[in-house]
Amino acid sequence: MPRDADRNPVVPGLLALVAAAGLSSSHRDAAPLFDCQSCGACCSYSAEWPRFSTEDDAQLDRIPEKYVAADLSGMRCEGVRCSALSGEVGKSTACGIYELRPDVCRACMPGDEECLMARAAHGFSTS
Ligand code: SF4
Ligand code: SF4
Repeated sequence: MPRDADRNPVVPGLLALVAAAGLSSSHRDAAPLFDCQSCGACCSYSAEWPRFSTEDDAQLDRIPEKYVAADLSGMRCEGVRCSALSGEVGKSTACGIYELRPDVCRACMPGDEECLMARAAHGFSTS
């Protein structure tokens, strides 16, 4: 997801690197790429999604408390939407803690299984 501050998302950044290197990932082969900045589906798909997993304590300590669930299991959600997500899903969205986002968020890539599930749940294109 893109961040609020400069709207310079890592995901597209990584994809740009892949493209520049002429690499072909399985994700790219499996599905076309989507624009995370005009999506946000995976950040507003399930309260069970942005959970903490492999982060160490120092990493988690940097996430502002207001965005953390009361039971400390993951990001605080409002319904199915992560509280760190700003903007309108499907139009323009950003992650308010982009540099600090949980590992599960870092792992999700446009076109992968989780992405497609989230997009489908929102009625967005998946191909
Ligand atoms: S659902 Fe896919 S395209 Fe949408 S923000 Fe998440 S990774 Fe990006
Ligand atoms: S922390 Fe950021 S990337 Fe992760 S679900 Fe929330 S808004 Fe999305």
